[in-house]
Amino acid sequence: MRRFIFICGLMFSALMMTDHKVIGDEKSPKDRDFQIVIDSVTRYIFKARPDAKLPLRNPKTGKETITRAFCCEKCAVCDRWKPVPIDAEPQEAPEKFHCPIHKEMMKPTGPIPNDLRFID
Ligand SMILES: [Zn+2]
Repeated sequence: MRRFIFICGLMFSALMMTDHKVIGDEKSPKDRDFQIVIDSVTRYIFKARPDAKLPLRNPKTGKETITRAFCCEKCAVCDRWKPVPIDAEPQEAPEKFHCPIHKEMMKPTGPIPNDLRFID
């Protein structure tokens, strides 16, 4: 638990240093009314209810490919959000939440487009 608070603290400081030209999502995932999800095939990101049971079905393809997403702010804007495992937590298996390019911890929060679609 202590470690979790520490990680939250780090994330908070990182957010404070973020350039706010892009829409920043400063609330922790628990405090906001949505979570960011990604279609692991098309790589499109969406908003989903915080309690949505993942993976979600993509209404366009009919396939359950929409899954949990974490953000690497070092990656290009169009490829910041990446699929991460649903059945693991960053505190327990940090290596599963590393950016494949930068090999650094990704976060459940990050800049999101203003007009991001909500998916049910
Ligand atoms: Zn990256």
